[in-house]
Amino acid sequence: MELAEKLSILASSAKYDASCASSGSESPGGKNSGASFGVRVPAGVCHSWTEDGRCVTLLKVLFSNACRFDCAYCVNRASADSRRTSFTVDELVDITCEFYRRNYIEGLFLSSGIFADPDIVMEKLIATARKLRQEAGFGGYIHLKLIPGTGEKMIRKAGLWADRLSANIELPTDKSLQNLAPQKSGKIILGAMEETFNAGAENEEDRRKFRLAGKNNVPVFAPAGQSTQLIVGASEENDKTILNLTGALYRKYMLRRVYYSAYIPVGLPGGAGIPDPRLPPGMEQCGTPSSLLLREHRLYQADWLLRFYRFAPDEVLEGEDLFLDMALDPKTAWALRHLDFFPVEVNRAGYDELLRIPGIGAKAGRRIIEARRSRSLGFDNLRRMGVVLKRARHFITAAGSFLDRPEDPKRIRRLLSDKDSLQPLLFEF
Ligand code: SF4
Repeated sequence: MELAEKLSILASSAKYDASCASSGSESPGGKNSGASFGVRVPAGVCHSWTEDGRCVTLLKVLFSNACRFDCAYCVNRASADSRRTSFTVDELVDITCEFYRRNYIEGLFLSSGIFADPDIVMEKLIATARKLRQEAGFGGYIHLKLIPGTGEKMIRKAGLWADRLSANIELPTDKSLQNLAPQKSGKIILGAMEETFNAGAENEEDRRKFRLAGKNNVPVFAPAGQSTQLIVGASEENDKTILNLTGALYRKYMLRRVYYSAYIPVGLPGGAGIPDPRLPPGMEQCGTPSSLLLREHRLYQADWLLRFYRFAPDEVLEGEDLFLDMALDPKTAWALRHLDFFPVEVNRAGYDELLRIPGIGAKAGRRIIEARRSRSLGFDNLRRMGVVLKRARHFITAAGSFLDRPEDPKRIRRLLSDKDSLQPLLFEF
């Protein structure tokens, strides 16, 4: 098989992994558009974020799409009727370097189907990263997927060549894993996360000791940390279960990111192949791509609240609530459930209180704290600081003045509902 054809198959096979934010998009300037300027990358390119928050463009491919496992939601599952192929280490190193030199990419995101014993597959991914670094002198970003079942030794080797490692949690409970991905187990996946966390902590301690001894040449273990992917909508778990799990992963293993991937029902436009009978009955009917993408979007917003706004999972979804409100972002939904907390006077509130106000983000919150040291702030000042007054106006006073009083939750809900404006965008996504 020609290398270009392999690349096309293995990039396409990787596109359902959401551990990067976007992938494989066509643009109006693409093939057959008549454009004469602007080079298109011929295969899967996605974006990710480095340790210091920079957005990088990555070549996102599988080493092989042959797989012994039979995960119902996956286009590469053993029982799927698809063309199988694999790279060699040398082919992948050459392609990555070539794309890098042409400025198509700044790094590599590499995963694989499990075509052999997990350690053998992991060894191929590590060999690719090692060769890129050691022999090709590649200084770009490398994200390696941890193959389920790979051992501690391999995880420790992988972290020495990769910037980021990720073990996909895939589904929120063991019950769903047993149903849809019977060869995987939560214990093994969480074990890989724990091992990655331990290896990172030990490496940090070693580097600290060596620094004290005047040595700064100890390699850093996975400097961009670890992440995971969770598929939403392929199993029956509610958002509360998902957010509780997410909160625990952030706390316990210090994950940098949990990526949510709306399950694209296979067999529908945008999906691939024939539906697997192990998927819950009716999934194709109840989970249209747009509603699943909206759910994914709300989970990302809730995740943001956990990571940057000091919310606990049981504040985002309280009491008997099991699913996020599809019409409101989760912070506004919380505010409407807690109108007794408002209005907040922006000239007196603490940083944590400011973070609870819809329309005030972490950056605007810090600016408010800084600016009000020298003057009392009015609404014009807030607008200039990046406060979204369309949202915040219902929940704040500035120097004792209201723009809008928080008295009618139904009216505020109507004004701040964004479901209708998001739906078409999500459907086109
Ligand atoms: S292990 Fe499961 S998710 Fe991964 S490639 Fe194989 S079938 Fe797909």
